[in-house]
Amino acid sequence: MFELTELFIDSAALRARLARPHAGACVVFEGWVRNHHLGQPVRELHYEAFDVMAQLEGNAIVAEIEQRFSGCTVLCSHRTGALRIGELAVWIGVVSAHRAAAFQACRQTIEEIKRRLPVWKKEFHPNGAAEWVNCTTEAAARGPQPADYYARQTSLPEIGDEGQSKLGRARVLIVGIGGLGCPAALYLAGAGVGQLALMDSGKVELSNLPRQILFTTDDLGISKADAAVSALRARNPFIQLESLNAELTVQNARALVAGRTVVLDCTDNFATRFILHDACFSAGVTLVQAAVHRFEGTLDIFRRGDGGCLHCLRQDRSIADLDAAAVNCSGGAVFGPAVGTLGVMQASEALKTILGQSTDEMFRRTHLVNLIDCSVLSIARDRNPACPVCGQPEEKSSTASAITASPPVILDPTDLAALGSVRLIALLDPGETADPARLPAGTLCIPAGDIAQLRELIEEGCIVLTCRHGLRSAAVTRLLRAEGRANIYALAAGSRSIIPPPHGPDP
Ligand SMILES: [Zn+2]
Repeated sequence: MFELTELFIDSAALRARLARPHAGACVVFEGWVRNHHLGQPVRELHYEAFDVMAQLEGNAIVAEIEQRFSGCTVLCSHRTGALRIGELAVWIGVVSAHRAAAFQACRQTIEEIKRRLPVWKKEFHPNGAAEWVNCTTEAAARGPQPADYYARQTSLPEIGDEGQSKLGRARVLIVGIGGLGCPAALYLAGAGVGQLALMDSGKVELSNLPRQILFTTDDLGISKADAAVSALRARNPFIQLESLNAELTVQNARALVAGRTVVLDCTDNFATRFILHDACFSAGVTLVQAAVHRFEGTLDIFRRGDGGCLHCLRQDRSIADLDAAAVNCSGGAVFGPAVGTLGVMQASEALKTILGQSTDEMFRRTHLVNLIDCSVLSIARDRNPACPVCGQPEEKSSTASAITASPPVILDPTDLAALGSVRLIALLDPGETADPARLPAGTLCIPAGDIAQLRELIEEGCIVLTCRHGLRSAAVTRLLRAEGRANIYALAAGSRSIIPPPHGPDP
């Protein structure tokens, strides 16, 4: 709830109104009138507001914060009229089940109120003079200026004012705000990328903190995208930040990448990586992708028409390699500086792409970074003429239409019905068993390595593969698609519900 008042703010009464039986924390901010501002003594203040507009905007801010931090209740009271030294000008209280959410929500409410509320402040000095704060050109000039903020990078001849404007007009999406995404976002925000969208469906956990440098212990349990936006807003007030608390899917990928200048893939699983790659390829948006395994990482910049695509890169690798790499990325051991280094390199490549400072060779090679011997090995990433995605004639128009015509490898479960008659096949690893009671009727279970049996089954009709994590089924599907078979798909989400883990709970 938001309210404007000309009366004294009664802090205790407001706090009593916020009392909730489920609340475990109440965070209160009080803005007081002080006797000085910018080195000048102040005698009293006048606040003036466009009442109707301020009320509407205040309501909108509170509603947005309560939606962003579900379970939080926000109460904000803002004084107008004449205020004396020591009086309360603004009171913001947030209650929540958990303190971390209450702290974050309170801080973001303060920032939004300060930035958006149409309320103006007039200072009265002891000598009788009065002035509107932040309304005169001198006052405005004393505030932080973008030119000062970016001074050290605009003095680079490769950037200059022209480059800075390019960065300001750029729209960048980062998918995955973890060990790679945090440093990447930090440097893109610092460089002044005008519109930066951060996407992650996860919440901050204790084991994230050593590598995910935008987060602190205050953020535990908070949405990663929201916490990252909050941390970046405090560092650069001159850019637009958007938090996307969602998972990337086949359904939303195209809309999310449309109109972006560059997209960064900072995720840690192969299913998402292929979905994002295919959406960027289809839209002609440059994709900067990195992956880390222990002390090593790979960096690829995919630009349609340059070098091989992700499918070219992966089709000569065995499925075991892909799965092993995925397990190591998602739950395994990782050297913190390795993800930090690769995340910063992603930011660097994204900035160079926006500025037009990349060489064409960067788009045609895979860069292998090894932190054990401090080496970077760049190997050619050639286009495979047999690649089902990019191995088409050179003309971009025909490449694009070929992609549109080629059916997706990964299928969302809701799209299953549209295929008509299909056979669902669960791939089982040694030691895995499926629960027959929970399997859809007619599902066939076969050992994951039995590719020969799958080749025979495709001859009988369309098949859809699933497995516990969704990785192996996707990889097998790509393998058989590369052999020229179209009648095969993989389910996007895997089937954890029907194939329980062989040893203990899912990591
Ligand atoms: Zn390809």
